[in-house]
Amino acid sequence: MAKTKATTPMMQQYFAVKKQYPDAFLFYRIGDFYELFYDDAIKGSQLLELTLTSRNKSADDPIPMCGVPHRAVDSYINVLIDHGYKVAICEQMEDPKLAVGMVKREVIQLVTPGTTTNVHPGEAKKNNYLSAVLPLDKGYAFAYGDVSTGELKVTVLDDIYAINNELEALNSVEIVVPEHLDEELAKDLHRGDRLLSVQKDDGLKHSEISYVSQDLDDAAEIAVVKQLMLYMLATQKRSLAHIQKAVAYEPAAYLEMDADARRNLDILANSRSGKKGDSLLGLLDATKTAMGGRMLRNWLERPLLNSKAINLRHAQVATLLDNFFERSELADALTSVYDLERLAGRVAFGNVNGRDMLQLATSLEQVPLIQEVIAKMPGDSLQNYAKLDPVADIDELIRRSINDDPPLSVKDGGVIKDGYSEKLDHYRQTENTSKAWLADLQATEREKTGIHNLRIRYNSVFGYYIEVTKSNLDLVPEDRYDRKQTLTNAERFTTPELKAKESEILEAQASSTALEYQLFTEVRDQIKAQIARLQKLAKQVAELDVLQSFAQIAESQHFVKPTMHRQGHAIDIDAGRHPVVENVIGKSAYIPNDVKMPDGTDILLITGPNMSGKSTYMRQLALIVIMAQAGSFVPADKAELPIFDHIFTRIGAADDLASGQSTFMVEMLEANAALSHATAHSLILFDELGRGTATYDGMALAQAIIEYLHDNVHAKTLFSTHYHELTALDKTLPRLRNVHVGATLEHGNLVFEHKMLTGPADKSYGIHVAKLAGLPNDLLKRADSILTRLEGKEQVAIPAAPSSSADNVAEDTAQLTSADEKAQPVADQAASQPATAGEADEQLELFAPEPVPAKSSLNKKETAVLKELGDFDLLSANPMGAMNLIYELQNKLKSGK
Ligand code: ADP
Repeated sequence: MAKTKATTPMMQQYFAVKKQYPDAFLFYRIGDFYELFYDDAIKGSQLLELTLTSRNKSADDPIPMCGVPHRAVDSYINVLIDHGYKVAICEQMEDPKLAVGMVKREVIQLVTPGTTTNVHPGEAKKNNYLSAVLPLDKGYAFAYGDVSTGELKVTVLDDIYAINNELEALNSVEIVVPEHLDEELAKDLHRGDRLLSVQKDDGLKHSEISYVSQDLDDAAEIAVVKQLMLYMLATQKRSLAHIQKAVAYEPAAYLEMDADARRNLDILANSRSGKKGDSLLGLLDATKTAMGGRMLRNWLERPLLNSKAINLRHAQVATLLDNFFERSELADALTSVYDLERLAGRVAFGNVNGRDMLQLATSLEQVPLIQEVIAKMPGDSLQNYAKLDPVADIDELIRRSINDDPPLSVKDGGVIKDGYSEKLDHYRQTENTSKAWLADLQATEREKTGIHNLRIRYNSVFGYYIEVTKSNLDLVPEDRYDRKQTLTNAERFTTPELKAKESEILEAQASSTALEYQLFTEVRDQIKAQIARLQKLAKQVAELDVLQSFAQIAESQHFVKPTMHRQGHAIDIDAGRHPVVENVIGKSAYIPNDVKMPDGTDILLITGPNMSGKSTYMRQLALIVIMAQAGSFVPADKAELPIFDHIFTRIGAADDLASGQSTFMVEMLEANAALSHATAHSLILFDELGRGTATYDGMALAQAIIEYLHDNVHAKTLFSTHYHELTALDKTLPRLRNVHVGATLEHGNLVFEHKMLTGPADKSYGIHVAKLAGLPNDLLKRADSILTRLEGKEQVAIPAAPSSSADNVAEDTAQLTSADEKAQPVADQAASQPATAGEADEQLELFAPEPVPAKSSLNKKETAVLKELGDFDLLSANPMGAMNLIYELQNKLKSGK
């Protein structure tokens, strides 16, 4: 901040406040505006596109200043929050007209990216999670919560990798950390546009914090929840009665996926567009409520591991699917349910208004309808939802107390219904009789004076008055009225009785408005006392909403109920589809594919041309697994699946630019994550692993990785590759099968069949794909000739590494053919020696210009001569015939052309 003398008491007050919020924009209320000063004003005027002016213009050091009107403040705050800044709202705490000396001001809220409760239009189905990280001697305590819905969860994580996975899954933009955080950790957490906010432990006991931590018994979890809650209290500066008791969770209790897997599989958003459409969530979201939308997101982020819970969801979806009419009725009822969780949050926050309360009542009134529909459905899978608590007392209270069409403001009256409070009714009566009295007065005065357009009117400066137009002034009897104000074409008067009535009316109005506000806050407090019930209801309604959404999508997209194995790891899918791709290209265009991985098969090695559908096939399996474990039906004719504990992926070739890692490094990191963490219950998708480096390096690594997975990990693995050499591995690795995507050549053009077939592909058709992409013909011909040359040269086969499986030994030995023996093992070369000049040539050749023919190289004619010579049957020829041939060949060579 610019160094300036705080000359006026107001600026002194400003500095005192600003000192407490150095990292926030301070919105300092002056009258109808929030003003920003100094650096806040300079930066704020740019970000908010405001005119930068100055205070004390004539002084030596004018103060930069800009302001926003108080009525529009939310939209300005949102802009700053979206840019990742914090905003401290400093209010006038007393009426400036009544204040003695400086108006008292206080910061009433610190709005931050992780705590803002302003929901952007269209984002109601998303949570805004604030997280907290607390380093422990071993591992980290981690908590997250949503200030608007009151959700609060806590766990202990092993390492920064796990923290980053959680942060990314939650899309948490702000992390509360303790003081003196290790610099390395701060750097790791501070990725992308995440904000780190420091919270000191104040060493005090807080009732809210004791309440939310009462179900926890781990000291580290309690400590991190306190850290999070202290920050929420410090920023919100109000009741947080809606924050729910913290629930301890274990990420490992759900199907785990790291952040890259979530992104690669386009689960919550499309990885290219970043949008929800064209993602799994976008496809599956037929939820009717915001809570249901958030719950669906949560179910897809954390699919289940418990087979009983998964089967229950499947059974519930089946019931809803089979009972179309009831499901439609349920969907209709849900459409009228508003965001109960956030409404409850607003009640606790104290920023709920009359209209919100009516939304709450309308929502609660749907509960009996929902119960009725559920009761009509057969079976008992859904019957626990027939016992929902409709919180009818709150519905009744709201209907009895709140007007049917209340204004937005809760402080200006008109919110409370007639008949709710006798006292209020009395005030209103007084107001009404006074108004009738005024109407009478107007009528009698008109009659008495004969002025037909005489009017009794009101304005806030002059109160009530009698208005007579200029042209009628001479009709006013002398001394009948006291003159109050003269306008160009009218005169305004009053009378002692009118004045008396005026104060009576104003008093009644003021008392009635104040009473109404008081009554309103009482109603609010009564609702607040029932927040836990509302939150429980909200959760159950959200679950029902997701289940009906699953049923609706299962019907429209022709999904089937999957069967989850209790034992064994076999995958048996008939006619599986990638639901999102199918939805984009159309059902008739999509070619379904089976996935057959019986217990003896762990690895499918997938070959086939680029663009043929290899990675779609792999993603398809992962999505089917995620959907099944989230409780949804799946896009297939039949699906029998084991329950997976973790999905690892290496798909796509994006550089992780943010962390400065190359494609290949990212590939290897992801491969390592899978190799070191996968179990026999995991699913691994490796899409063309190893292509980020030179051909032989990549191929060697790919083979070694496959062997390692086969011998040590036993996870179900789909491995697509360009390296045809790897398809020979099925001879040595008994749990590996080759499959390929069919493609045919028609008149030299490649036709994709998108059909998965057994066995390896015959070639990779790269140049044909390039042709489809429209590359110039000459270039393609050139590529073809380079390929022919390379294929002629490249006789190096990758050797089978000795497999650790005892039953492979015989096959391994048989595999070591003479060709293998002659070729130096590439894996060994890569491991044991620096690249030789020859080897480097091999690797660079693809990119090198075609070598100039050496002197000894043969031209076409010479080659033909040699061929003729070679074909000549010497044994059946006579000497003369041989002489003649030599003569002829010599002539051919001499002709030179
Ligand atoms: P690859 O991984 O072999 O390069 P992709 O899986 O990326 O190929 O698929 C390329 C395109 O082919 C996809 O974008 C999709 O439009 C289409 N495709 C893939 N699988 C199928 C299928 N089973 N049926 C119809 N089209 C498909």
